[in-house]
Amino acid sequence: MAIQDSGTHTVVGDASLQELEESLRGELIRPADAGYDEARAVWNGAIDKRPAAIVRCAGVADVRHAVEFARSQDLLVAVRGGKHSLPGFSTVDGGIVIDLSNMKGMRVDPAARTAQAEGGLTWSEFDHEAQAFGLATTGGLISTTGIAGFTLGGGIGWLMRAHGLTCDNLISADVVTAEGELVHASADQNPELFWGLRGGGGNFGVVTNFEYQLHPVGPVVLAGPVFYSGDRAAEMLRFYREFTQDLPNEATTLLNLATAPPAPFLPEEVHGKPIVVLVGVYAGPVAEGERVLQPMRDLGDPIADLMGPIPYVAMQSLLDALYPAGMSNYFKAGFMDEISDQAIETFVEQYGAVNSPANEIHVHHFGGAVAEVADDATAFGNRSSEYVLNIIARTPDSNGFEAVVDWGRGAYQALEPYTAGGTYTNFMSQGDDRLKEAYGSEKYERLVALKDRYDPTNLFQLNQNIKPTKDS
Ligand SMILES: Cc1cc2nc3c(=O)[nH]c(=O)nc-3n(C[C@H](O)[C@H](O)[C@H](O)COP(=O)(O)OP(=O)(O)OC[C@H]3O[C@@H](n4cnc5c(N)ncnc54)[C@H](O)[C@@H]3O)c2cc1C
Repeated sequence: MAIQDSGTHTVVGDASLQELEESLRGELIRPADAGYDEARAVWNGAIDKRPAAIVRCAGVADVRHAVEFARSQDLLVAVRGGKHSLPGFSTVDGGIVIDLSNMKGMRVDPAARTAQAEGGLTWSEFDHEAQAFGLATTGGLISTTGIAGFTLGGGIGWLMRAHGLTCDNLISADVVTAEGELVHASADQNPELFWGLRGGGGNFGVVTNFEYQLHPVGPVVLAGPVFYSGDRAAEMLRFYREFTQDLPNEATTLLNLATAPPAPFLPEEVHGKPIVVLVGVYAGPVAEGERVLQPMRDLGDPIADLMGPIPYVAMQSLLDALYPAGMSNYFKAGFMDEISDQAIETFVEQYGAVNSPANEIHVHHFGGAVAEVADDATAFGNRSSEYVLNIIARTPDSNGFEAVVDWGRGAYQALEPYTAGGTYTNFMSQGDDRLKEAYGSEKYERLVALKDRYDPTNLFQLNQNIKPTKDS
């Protein structure tokens, strides 16, 4: 049974853990086990927590046992897929981690263009299977990210303007509820739960299996980055504003105000200097992509131009090395409807004030197929905005992290007057309390009603938490 320690944590007794272990097909990892430190680490190095136990589930039965155990012991529960949560929700001090990272089954139906995918897959694993049939759905810009947390929060990626958010491609999901029941959610079965899973995050249960709509993509696409000097930031932002006015849905692009990493594809003399990176993917015929994305390459004097025909899977992992696990990370995001001249001035000012070479300011071009889905069709908020602004502040370790977070917050605050309000829950970091704004009050109320129905005691609270009525 669980006992209270001198602080506020619940402490789990060894005998109870032993019982849990015996009920599992997967593995139970405890603090004294050799693999504990590796198992407790999450992608964001700024997060350092010590769970009482990590349940490496082998299947749905293990997930159910773990949920029932956590409920009966009154333990805090962290649910984990690819462990990329920025605020560190996929770990917990003293509680239990339900870790699906060994659940990597995937079945593609090439004729129906659908995939059944277990909750522990990462995007690189997902793409590997789907691209064997020339298929894909919208996945992450960094392929180490898990499909689970990503899909449940929305999912923005290189295919979004062609095929919608990842959650728009969700056909159904299997969910273990707080009661330990397995329910299926789709347009026909438990439709309200299905609505909430598409943007409402991990609030309603543990999703063991996702069914996705796939689309023919590549295998070779026209894609890649073009690098320009950072002192041309204002010019590049003005270009981007115009360029994104009239793009076909097949084109998804990003403008990144960054610092040149010491990468072999960049000349040594620019390493450590400000650069503007224009990146794009054309989810259609390569020749057509060359024509549509050519203006990104025609701005004169690029430092490097890596845009060209490239396997979709290579594009999906192209930026992975720049986002290794273990760095200290902070993101702050919002939506923008337009990029005004004043906003451009502010972008340039804030970019000039970066205090870590790993800091970046991203402007994603949104819209296209994302905006074609009715706003009330899913819980995801703000789908009609033109751009997603994401400020990224990072340091290699904890040294200097507070100062870069201050820069990130300050840069966002300066740009906030030019945003359209709201935020994207998957880009919210520690201390961001804009959850209601992320959904808007109508959707938020609907999510609370769903929470009341599926998790009234808030067992699943380590997430962008929709509090049930009794706690609000
Ligand atoms: C390097 C990096 C790149 C990113 N790039 C993008 C991007 O291109 N586009 C984008 O949209 N987002 C991006 N994100 C944000 C990303 O969507 C979120 O961090 C997301 O939560 C990651 O999912 P995960 O499964 O890896 O995370 P985890 O940390 O494993 O899970 C995050 C949360 O999701 C919930 N959850 C996870 N698995 C389950 C499950 N099986 N059932 C129920 N709830 C679950 C839990 O609440 C958990 O706390 C990026 C993040 C990072 C760190």
